[in-house]
Formats: sequence, C-alpha cells, structure tokens
Amino acid sequence: MSEFVKTCGKCGPLTLSQIYKNRHCIKCSKIKVAEYQGKNKDKLSVAKKLWQKKNPEKIKVYRAKFNQLNHDLLKIKNKEYGKKYYQLHIDERKETLLRKGNLKTLNLHNSYVLSRLARQLKMKSKDIPIQLVELKRQLLKLKRIIRSL
Ligand SMILES: [Zn+2]
Repeated sequence: MSEFVKTCGKCGPLTLSQIYKNRHCIKCSKIKVAEYQGKNKDKLSVAKKLWQKKNPEKIKVYRAKFNQLNHDLLKIKNKEYGKKYYQLHIDERKETLLRKGNLKTLNLHNSYVLSRLARQLKMKSKDIPIQLVELKRQLLKLKRIIRSL
C-alpha cells in the first residue's frame, strides 16, 4: 500500500502526516483562503456583520472566552492604552472639565480632594484632617505630572 493517500492540487501527493483540506495541502489551502479573502473583502465584511447581527449570543460567548484567555494581556494593553489616551487627550480633557464647569476637579479644589479621600478611606469628609487634604492634593498633582511625562 502506498503511503501517499491524497494529493494536493498544487504540490502533488501528500503523506499521511500532511493535513488535507479542500483538495489542497494545508499550506496551499491557507494561501487560497487568504487570496479569496483579499479578493472578496467587501462581500465578506458585509456577511460577517450580518452574521454578528444574527448571533449576538454567540459573540458574547466568544468574547467572554477570549477575554478569559487573554485576561493578563488585556490588562496590560488597557493600562498602556489608557496612559497613551490620557497623554493624547490631556488638553481635550482639560477643556472638557472647563466646559463642564468642573474647575474643582481641575484645580484640585478642597471639596474634590476631600471627597476622593473620603471615598478612599471610607470615612466621612468632616472627620478627615485638613493636613491630609493638603497631602492628598500634592499626591494627585504628582500623579498628574507622572501621567503627563
Ligand atoms: Zn499544496
């Protein structure tokens, strides 16, 4: 009996260990698929969107699985992205805060710093010593400087 069981349309006879797909070896099959995808980009993108619209539950499961598998990687990526985003949009952020009249946040006003401290320490604002507020303000300033580096 021959060890060649199947043939690739391009490469010829394949051994048992070579995976066979769509009348081509796996290597040629991959090339063919890539070619097809390149030629039918628009068509495939429409089909993909349509499928996604019809299968929201499946997408949810896929995403959850992906996120679970890539948890640490995503965490690092998100952190890096957040840093970059902050730097790129630092002026916009300032403008937004100004527009919203949120000068208290921008200028690290006592009431803003106090509310952050209260949340962090799980204490009531009135129980927090004023020296702590000053220290926290310096810390927040320092953090802002570090983030903008
Ligand atoms: Zn082949």
